[in-house]
Amino acid sequence: MKNITIVGGGLVGSLLAVLMAKRGHKVDVYERRSDPRTAEQYAGRSINLVVSHRGWTALRAAGIDERIREITVPVYARMTHDPQGKTNRLPYSIENKAIYSVSRGELNNRLLSEAERMPGVTLHFGYRCDDVDLDKASCTFARKGEEPKTVKADVVLACDGAFSAVRAKMQYGRFNYSQEYIEHDYKEIAFPAGPEGNPLMDPQCLHIWPRRYYMLMGLANQDGGFTGTLFMPHNAGPEAPDAGFDKVRTEAEADHFLKTHFPDAYAIIPDMTQQYMRHPQSTLVIVRCSPWTHGSTAALFGDAAHAIVPFYGEGMNAGYEDCKVLNDLLDEHGDDNWGAVLHAYDKHRVANGHAIADLSLRNFTEMRDLVAAPRFILRKKIEGHIQAKHPDQWLPLYTQVKFTDIPYVDALREGQRHDRIMEEILAMPGIETKWESEEVERKALELLKKA
Ligand SMILES: Cc1cc2nc3c(=O)[nH]c(=O)nc-3n(C[C@H](O)[C@H](O)[C@H](O)COP(=O)(O)OP(=O)(O)OC[C@H]3O[C@@H](n4cnc5c(N)ncnc54)[C@H](O)[C@@H]3O)c2cc1C
Repeated sequence: MKNITIVGGGLVGSLLAVLMAKRGHKVDVYERRSDPRTAEQYAGRSINLVVSHRGWTALRAAGIDERIREITVPVYARMTHDPQGKTNRLPYSIENKAIYSVSRGELNNRLLSEAERMPGVTLHFGYRCDDVDLDKASCTFARKGEEPKTVKADVVLACDGAFSAVRAKMQYGRFNYSQEYIEHDYKEIAFPAGPEGNPLMDPQCLHIWPRRYYMLMGLANQDGGFTGTLFMPHNAGPEAPDAGFDKVRTEAEADHFLKTHFPDAYAIIPDMTQQYMRHPQSTLVIVRCSPWTHGSTAALFGDAAHAIVPFYGEGMNAGYEDCKVLNDLLDEHGDDNWGAVLHAYDKHRVANGHAIADLSLRNFTEMRDLVAAPRFILRKKIEGHIQAKHPDQWLPLYTQVKFTDIPYVDALREGQRHDRIMEEILAMPGIETKWESEEVERKALELLKKA
């Protein structure tokens, strides 16, 4: 049994606490915020997010997947909304698989309660980690109105998010680090439920209003409403001079912009403009770093290790996979051999963290731009067709990322190979009419052997 300090009781820290306590370790979770279960309103970033295969695998390992499933809404397809409000439904998988929408606050609350029920777990709220002695696995926490307190453990597991204090301490050593803000910021806009609590759009779809340089998306909540997120450049560029948070500032500008570009959403959100004016504008940051570990005494998990843009809906899922990998490595090497475990964790995970950062950026282009393009829709149809006929040879990239445990690095490589193949297929004369033909299928198989 080890004494483990987990810094951060967010989505990843709370799950990791359950997993480590299940193994018989003594776990102390220190969270900067007050207990969100007693706070009036959750003040996190995005209000809902998507749990997919990798997340479920980790939740199952912790024995709590079924209790979490109760609070989710399955989502089977994307639904695009064009500027005239015309919709198009694109399933995520030919096998009717779903990803699951969940309230971030509710998920965190449930996980904290699950952690608290485990013998050996103590949650400490209102404690901000200000300093870490990585060699000694000791952390110093500040609490309002109290003297700072230093806590010594055997291992420190850092789940303290994109601006991790533990990671900052690692930067004093031999450590690679990069941080990049993307051009787009975001704002949340809530879609209300109908008068009977009924959803006003199909709740089993992720709704996207792709507008090339900006987009709105909407994910269902259990109460019949949707959480919308508007992604738009911080500063408008020459390609879309009216679309930038710097250009849409006054109530009149916001009203005109939202009504013009998202008319069908505007029609069902009576206070869309007021929400735009009221809600904060948040930034999106990508953090890459290595190593993720310090000897046998400290390691990074979740956003502390890999903050990524949210366009694959994988940030938390990747963080959950970090936890599952650690758990598997403890099975393999034993709970007393943290040096070997953390060495293997670093070796296994860092490249995958970088790969999901790349994949997430790549999916941004797909969501805001390609998803509405006829060529992209045709590509999806052809890929689905080849997959249905030759499932052992063609697994679309999205399927690999969202519905399997295939390492992100391998998925990225395979996705790049698919791009090369599909470029040739889409260049075949008359492809629009013959995409289901044997000729196209033969060509795909031929290219698969070569590419
Ligand atoms: C708009 C948006 C949509 C997203 N959608 C999805 C999605 O659909 N699916 C998905 O998988 N991911 C999604 N993500 C990503 C997901 O939110 C993150 O990957 C996830 O929250 C990471 O969890 P975490 O526990 O590592 O970090 P966080 O959720 O940031 O939690 C860190 C915790 O540590 C605490 N903390 C920070 N510093 C300290 C300190 N010094 N001392 C003590 N405590 C500290 C914080 O208060 C917080 O509770 C989305 C992100 C955004 C921005």
